[in-house]
Amino acid sequence: MELSKEQAERYQRHLPLHEIGIEGQKKMGNAKVCVIGAGGLGSPAAMYLAAAGVGTIGIADADQVELSNLQRQILHGMEDIGIPKVRSAKETLQRLNPDTVVHTYPVFVDEDNILELIGPYDFVIDAADNFHTKFLINDACVMAGKPFVHAGVIRFQGQLMTYVPGQGPCYRCIFKQPPQKGAVPSAKEAGILGVVCGVIGSLQAMEAVKYILGAGDLLTGKLLTYDALGARFRTIHLPERTQDCGACGKH
Ligand SMILES: [Zn+2]
Repeated sequence: MELSKEQAERYQRHLPLHEIGIEGQKKMGNAKVCVIGAGGLGSPAAMYLAAAGVGTIGIADADQVELSNLQRQILHGMEDIGIPKVRSAKETLQRLNPDTVVHTYPVFVDEDNILELIGPYDFVIDAADNFHTKFLINDACVMAGKPFVHAGVIRFQGQLMTYVPGQGPCYRCIFKQPPQKGAVPSAKEAGILGVVCGVIGSLQAMEAVKYILGAGDLLTGKLLTYDALGARFRTIHLPERTQDCGACGKH
């Protein structure tokens, strides 16, 4: 694929970057990223990926847009209330960049459909809002040999880590299993500032872009945490892969 005149203008600010240039922009155009969740994290992640020229974005979410989503889920607007989030997401992404092909999956991601869902994609973004789905994404990506970036947000805090097959621990190595129901409050119960979703979802898009370009350092073997009130980022070096991990271990 060559860049058209319009694309050369659209991506003009990428072209002077040594890590991108015309070759990197073509890599983005050929890349396929699957975003699981069209909410607080999925919104900035998908929007920056579309804006950057990622050629194919898949977006999965079973929910409809509600008024209480709009404080953080910037893919959606007032006129979208009541319609499927994936429909609203596709409209927003195509308004941003008509070059991006958007595939929508208005389904609740579960054990039966996840491998088929992620199959065609190069990179997966865990933008799910519950632990069950986060562990499911991890286990499916480990099984399918797909890289993915995990993220979680609550109140004024966020975290993310990246898994690449063969490099460092998976999410289950570190977090073992979903917490008991009710042991950890949800964002609905505990609250979440929309800006925190914006910061962490944007960092997820950054991990995807670096993976696509093969540039820079990914958060493999590292957990990046963000304390918004304290204005602090921390990088925690994670232990090695666990030999008896239920996902990436020997069995
Ligand atoms: Zn593991």
